Amino acid sequence: MASTHAPASWLESANAPDCPFSLANLPLAILRKVDEQGEYGVLATVVGDRAVDLTPLIEAGLFAECKHIEELEAAFEESSWTPPDGLSRDALREVRKVLQKFFADASPGTGASGKQTQRLREKCLSPLDTAEWYLPATMMNYTDFYASVHHATNVGSMFRPDNPLLPNYKHIPIGYHGRASSLVISGTPVARPSGQTQPDPQSPPVFGLCKRLDYELEMGCVIATGNEIGEPIGIDDVEQHILGLCVVNDWSARDMQAWEYQPLGPFLAKNFATSVSPFIVTLDALEPYRVAGPTRRAGDPTPLPYLTPQAALAAKAGFDIQLHVSIRTRKMAEAKLPAHRISSGSFKDMFWTFGQMIAHHTSGGCNLIPGDLLASGTISGPEPETRGCMLELTWDGPPHNGPDGKPKPRKPITLPTGETRVFLEDGDEVIFDAVCSKPGLPPIGFGQCRGTIVG
Ligand code: MN
Repeated sequence: MASTHAPASWLESANAPDCPFSLANLPLAILRKVDEQGEYGVLATVVGDRAVDLTPLIEAGLFAECKHIEELEAAFEESSWTPPDGLSRDALREVRKVLQKFFADASPGTGASGKQTQRLREKCLSPLDTAEWYLPATMMNYTDFYASVHHATNVGSMFRPDNPLLPNYKHIPIGYHGRASSLVISGTPVARPSGQTQPDPQSPPVFGLCKRLDYELEMGCVIATGNEIGEPIGIDDVEQHILGLCVVNDWSARDMQAWEYQPLGPFLAKNFATSVSPFIVTLDALEPYRVAGPTRRAGDPTPLPYLTPQAALAAKAGFDIQLHVSIRTRKMAEAKLPAHRISSGSFKDMFWTFGQMIAHHTSGGCNLIPGDLLASGTISGPEPETRGCMLELTWDGPPHNGPDGKPKPRKPITLPTGETRVFLEDGDEVIFDAVCSKPGLPPIGFGQCRGTIVG
């Protein structure tokens, strides 16, 4: 059973009741180091207000007693970290236990061994607020889904007001293969893309800077162990293949998307950049925040057997994660104003679960490999204030069309400076926050996923 309270730590900042990085969390990350050896990444975690370099702990033999030591040694050897195939949930759990023990409240004692422990504690810590990170795994593949029925319905309404949801939606998790080379770590500036659009349907297309630049609030699922080509992952086995979850911004050029997406789906509208948060929060940390998968309404089809987990797994197929989107324009930054929250939603409102996405992705024989990123698709809930992108947030619908039959004008968002936004402008910073929290439980933070648009 998951404990309901985080163990206390000698690192005082980890013990605050609202600390998102208590000993109950311990996410996986790759910390950027710069020293006389140059610039490189080390396997790391976060505790309280400190980034933790795991290298000194590994070198001190902290993990030597682990049952899965061979697996772990292979994992620890990677300089740019990819969980090697075979790194199991059990091995991850051992890492978590060892780290919890190391950081748990205990005096290092006196004498030589006490001094050594004290030195080790100091050696592995650095301030979190100035820490820099790489992508939290070597992500060789990126697949983007469309798992929110509210998002799919809203976007569908804009194009097909009478028939928003396509007939396949409730039968099959819709997705497309994205571009892994342009995955960037949170904080990386995002250049406004150029591309082909057709602003006037009566005139030929034009090439130029995107005029309808948007974000998409998504959660990402990082793969731990993959599968052999031709050997699908069964829906009841998916959890063994998940390293953990992170936050993703799937930046989208809507004007380019509208012109290019038929018949093969998005291409340049999505491949210029996708931002990823620096921490992978493990399933063990998320255990107290598991919730039942989506409830299907009367009349909804029953998913096919390969997408139907056994009852015990269905009862915890979802995650109760609260999500917030904020914007800070250049003017707001200059006026030293804080970021302004424009929407809040929950990951538990999704129609398809990550388990179903993994089972479906591999059902035809496609092999996932360690570090692969599967993103959920825009997370929107039923209420207008829970919409996870500007395409929906500034949409004055449903219905999409006004009484004159023409599309209604977009409803701008007003910011504290008096500025308004329908889509993103140059200098706008978009900030996603994700956290699990419930009375009586230590919160589990994901950190932020942020990015600023540059012209
Ligand atoms: Mn997306």
